[in-house]
Amino acid sequence: MEKKNLDWGSLGFDYTRTDYRFEAHYKDGRWDEGKLLQDENIVINECACVFQYAQTVFEGLKAYTTEDGRIVCFRPNLNAERMAESARTLVMPPFPEDQFVDAVLQVVKANAAWVPPYGSGATLYVRPFMIGYDPIIGVTPANEFKFRIFCTPVGPYFKGGAKPVTICVSDLNRAAPAGTGHIKAGLNYAMSLRAHEVAHANGFDENMFLDPATGTKVEETGGANFLFVTHDNKIVTPKSNSILPSITRRSLVYVAQKYLGMEVIEREVYVTELEDFAECGLCGTAAVICPVGKVVDHGREICFPSGMEGMGPVTKKLYDTLTGIQMGRIEPPEGWIYEIK
Ligand SMILES: *Cc1c(COP(=O)(O)O)cnc(C)c1O
Repeated sequence: MEKKNLDWGSLGFDYTRTDYRFEAHYKDGRWDEGKLLQDENIVINECACVFQYAQTVFEGLKAYTTEDGRIVCFRPNLNAERMAESARTLVMPPFPEDQFVDAVLQVVKANAAWVPPYGSGATLYVRPFMIGYDPIIGVTPANEFKFRIFCTPVGPYFKGGAKPVTICVSDLNRAAPAGTGHIKAGLNYAMSLRAHEVAHANGFDENMFLDPATGTKVEETGGANFLFVTHDNKIVTPKSNSILPSITRRSLVYVAQKYLGMEVIEREVYVTELEDFAECGLCGTAAVICPVGKVVDHGREICFPSGMEGMGPVTKKLYDTLTGIQMGRIEPPEGWIYEIK
């Protein structure tokens, strides 16, 4: 298989059309088998439920080339499970989890020429999603649904080294206490766009959203979970039922416990305790872990001791271990790596 002739290292996080996508359709109470397609367009009625009432959920994961040249995906079974939960929450029929994993592997295999080579820092980003398909004008769930997976090569998240980000505490809410914060719904992202604009206009990279009920506890950013390191080398992650359960954060927690022998505590984290932490990171598929150098809560500035130059020592160890597992340099836990054959 000949790779596409791209300058992998200089790719950004943009859509590039690749050769194949997978699509399945739900009608009359069942999902069909689905198949690979070459057409990147979906032709759809103007009154489709997805357009009118935002009935759509999605996932995001990556395929990598390992050091020894294999193409692998990282824990796609967890994306399958989470998407099924997202679907149930928005009254959509869950796509069968085994079929989801199989479809991810099919799409990656069909687009093997687009999987960036080892060492380029680039990866193949895989985007499964599901939409309410048929025309709906009264407020009800759709009757027909489309499940699709496309993929696009994306560049290294950290170009020229990991640069710590600066975050502001947002006055806006991301998710309601008993709402949709825990699922990967497109509407959560629509909700976070304005907060993002405001943060950027004020010179910040991201927002820290607080719990909407009391405005006192740390939740997450628009698209990544927080992870803190204490001065006595413990990991603390915020606990809340309106945080999206990041697969990267859950994997880093496992790595901290089982590979690095660290204690991990999942608990409510008050915004007033930020000064107590030695390091702070943002966890998600895109970056794995992005160091946070500074949080600004209106007049109050919290500068983490790890500074603005690079990752703190624990963040770095977590990053190196998990990316080592993903790239095949470190022995993975059983069931984490799916090889495309
Ligand atoms: C996708 C997402 C994350 C990160 O999850 P990963 O599974 O690690 O990619 C975190 N927060 C939100 C709101 C998300 O949508």
